[in-house]
Amino acid sequence: MRGRIPLLYNGRSGWPRKPRTTNQRPDTAVRHKILVTDGIDPEGVALLAADPLLEVDEVPTLPAAELLARIGDYEALVGRSATRITPELLRAARNIRVIGRAGVGVDNIAMDTATELGISIINAPAGNTVAVAELVFGSLLSILRGLSLADRTMRGGEWRRSELLGGELKGRTLGIVGLGRIGSEVARRALAFEMEVQAFDPYVPDTRFQGLRVQRAESLAALLAHSDVLTIHVPLTDETRGMIGARELTKLKPGAILLNLARGGIVEEDALADALTSAKLAGAALDVFLKEPLPPDDRLRGIPNLFLTPHIGASTVEAQRNVARDVCAAVRDTLLGGELSRAINIASLEGVRWEDLKPALRLSERAAAVGRAILATQGNRAVQRVSLRAGPAHLGGSEALLSAAAVGVLGGVVAGERLNLINARTIAAQRGIELSAIETAPGTVDDMIEVRVSAGMQEIAVAGTASATAPARLTRIGAFHVDVQPRGTLLILTNEDVPGVIGRVGTVLGEASINIAEYHQARLAQGGDALAAVSVDGAVNDSVQGELLGIPGVRSATVVTFDRT
Ligand code: NAD
Repeated sequence: MRGRIPLLYNGRSGWPRKPRTTNQRPDTAVRHKILVTDGIDPEGVALLAADPLLEVDEVPTLPAAELLARIGDYEALVGRSATRITPELLRAARNIRVIGRAGVGVDNIAMDTATELGISIINAPAGNTVAVAELVFGSLLSILRGLSLADRTMRGGEWRRSELLGGELKGRTLGIVGLGRIGSEVARRALAFEMEVQAFDPYVPDTRFQGLRVQRAESLAALLAHSDVLTIHVPLTDETRGMIGARELTKLKPGAILLNLARGGIVEEDALADALTSAKLAGAALDVFLKEPLPPDDRLRGIPNLFLTPHIGASTVEAQRNVARDVCAAVRDTLLGGELSRAINIASLEGVRWEDLKPALRLSERAAAVGRAILATQGNRAVQRVSLRAGPAHLGGSEALLSAAAVGVLGGVVAGERLNLINARTIAAQRGIELSAIETAPGTVDDMIEVRVSAGMQEIAVAGTASATAPARLTRIGAFHVDVQPRGTLLILTNEDVPGVIGRVGTVLGEASINIAEYHQARLAQGGDALAAVSVDGAVNDSVQGELLGIPGVRSATVVTFDRT
């Protein structure tokens, strides 16, 4: 039967042959090589080049084969959408830790492969919001006032004033699909033009609609029915691909205007071309296309009431500078400080800041490592299940804490250096380890975390506390209450509660020049089972471990080595 064990070790048979270690890499002063491509703004590149620990190679967009041949040298790649990050490229990039995309869309990146390989993907979602929102109105005004026809015909020597009777934005209803960053900026500007603004975004709460003074459309169909102008600001996902096709276009008001400055593929191009040529729509603007660059002979190029731009939504000096600075700073922090908070392929947090969660992440990883090591001492090395229970303070970080626990049980077990919060869950799943976050019982200590690890027929719970202001401490190992910091090397001894054990343990460690930082002795009952959690500076090798085992009354010794912090 599987059950929680109060650390009942059966003699010395299950000794680990080697001390268990976690997979922490010490910081080194080695220079990190970064490949910068696709014409990243010089301010971003300068930010990287200014750091003596970073070595930057800047190249124009490379042909795929050349990039594949070179990528193995680099720890980071910073680029824009022109460089396709394929699974093949990622697998060849054996040193890569982070890929920075100066811009929002990451559909040029094989995200699943990156996640599986533990490679951080960082984008710069905010820097080009205003640029796109402003182009929406540039395009819209151009359609409403016939600006491109006016300009073209003037240059041809004509004066077609009578044909250029336009329309106004004021009083028209703007329908926004996707009330995210760009959708929201579009809404603000539309209100300044005195438009009526409605939006459809089922993932955004009412409060955001209210804050922006935007009316919520309950369905896409309702939005289509009310909009004089429909503008698309959703990402390209399985749900949004082909979201606006022939059926949707027929639901728009006759004479409506459609804008897609989001991603090609959201609006079906053939259906849009038909709606424009049949004059069902008064006009449309496209900045993004299914195939980019748009082929020279594409049907869309011949449609007069279609305003076309070559994916320039984010092409302003300000936006390029913003996104380059933003992504380069995040890539630098990832390389130099192991900062993962900007990675978009990592478990998301709800109402908790990465910065504040760090001690809890460390506790979760280390508690899991302790649990794994104790089970291994008992001869149960194949972890089958890890579950996590977090106190109210950490609930919003449960998913990330579970990833950290997965790192804790896999550290030192799986090959490769890339085990991290990004790929630990994928690797755990591949190894058949079940991970779950379980509900927190009422009355749970606010900043508590408990990690249960199961292997074979046994399960052990290791718990502790950590908060933004207090470092991680282990407070329970199995049934024993302890109070020790999980740092350096942790020695966990089980013994009979008989006199003299503590002194002899101290002597063995002292003779091996191992300094004791903390020693916490716990017992279930006088003369019964006892457990010592001993935090020491320096390593405990096999021979010291053997000597500890030779102390009368000592039943088992587990060594867990963490990094220095
Ligand atoms: P965002 O993530 O801030 O907002 C997207 C919004 O879409 C979110 O609020 C989300 O809830 C909503 N959404 C997702 N699926 C939806 C669905 N099925 N129905 C309705 N709403 C849905 O993104 P953003 O920064 O505002 O970017 C929006 C789009 O603009 C993206 O496609 C992005 O790639 C594109 N973009 C284009 C350019 C350009 O050069 N033309 C530049 C930047 C961004």
